[in-house]
Amino acid sequence: MIYLDYQATTPLAPEARDAMMRWLDGPDGTGFGNPHSPHRLGRQAAAAVDLARERVGALFPPGGKVFFTGSATEALNTVIRGCEPVREGAGIAVSAIEHAAVWDTARALPNAFHEIPVDHAGLVEPEGSLPDGVGLVAVMQVNNEIGTIQPVAELARAAKAAGALFVCDAVQAAGRIPIAHADAIAVSAHKLHGPKGIGALWLRDGVEVAPLITGGGQEGGLRSGTLSPALCAGFGAAAKLAKERMQADAEHIEALWQRAMQVFDGWTLNGSADARWHGNLNLRRDGLDVARLMSDVRNVAFSAGSACASGSGKPSRVLQAIGLSDKHVKNSIRLGFGRYTGMDDLEEAAASINAAATAQGI
Ligand code: PLP
Repeated sequence: MIYLDYQATTPLAPEARDAMMRWLDGPDGTGFGNPHSPHRLGRQAAAAVDLARERVGALFPPGGKVFFTGSATEALNTVIRGCEPVREGAGIAVSAIEHAAVWDTARALPNAFHEIPVDHAGLVEPEGSLPDGVGLVAVMQVNNEIGTIQPVAELARAAKAAGALFVCDAVQAAGRIPIAHADAIAVSAHKLHGPKGIGALWLRDGVEVAPLITGGGQEGGLRSGTLSPALCAGFGAAAKLAKERMQADAEHIEALWQRAMQVFDGWTLNGSADARWHGNLNLRRDGLDVARLMSDVRNVAFSAGSACASGSGKPSRVLQAIGLSDKHVKNSIRLGFGRYTGMDDLEEAAASINAAATAQGI
């Protein structure tokens, strides 16, 4: 099976797996300690968590702190629901192409909701003014469906000028490109070759957030619950590796992108080609029956629109936001590749996908 769904999740790095094993039970059976216990086993586990926090923290800009969570979804819920302006009733502005973790959370709150539009290329317009009363602005760094890279620095400045907190969902950016400056940033281990079940919320020093999950007061009281040293260690190892390999991975992915542009020449790209993470290929072809394509192409794992939206039966909100007709939204597929994708994998997948599309008579 050729895996071309890197935006949904990424393969676990062997280095991350190795780092985790020690903290599941370990070769001498001493790796299971509770990192919040004061005895030796606990302190060893706590040291592993500290190292992981340092490694994950190295992905972020200086001047803030990492809080581990169960997912990026939890991190985003924590900051959106718990930050001071939102609790005090201020309005929330989010881009039209945010992930459901931001979009649905903001919509679920009683606060005034403002959608920041995007252009046909899938880019948020930083010039647009924010309405009065907005206390929180959330714009993602790299979009999960079309890979577009947002002008986050300018948006953060606009939010600051409006007196609002700026939250950035950097899930698809972390480990791939340097993370932008913001007041709060969410990332997820499984999108950067770490394990599933752990994410992080980074908060700039001085940003106050009330906990979503209360109890034992772990994570400085922001997120109660016993941490998993194995998940933390895997996340840390994956983050360290991603930082070290950022340039090499980007060069590899660029070579795949260049080849993809040749082998998928009969397709139209959704979203900007330039302001884009080149490990994302969201393509459409007029008349394409995507469900049939997916059942015909058995040797490739890929996605129709967004993996998060697929199965919901709802057309992609992101593709609609960039102005695609319902027909074109339904003609779209998403391919995602990365560190462990070989050139031969890409070529073989393209041959299968192109053959299946041609067999549909289009
Ligand atoms: N934000 C973006 C852009 C994503 O792609 C995802 C996962 O698909 C999430 C948030 C949610 O991450 P998690 O799976 O850690 O909850």
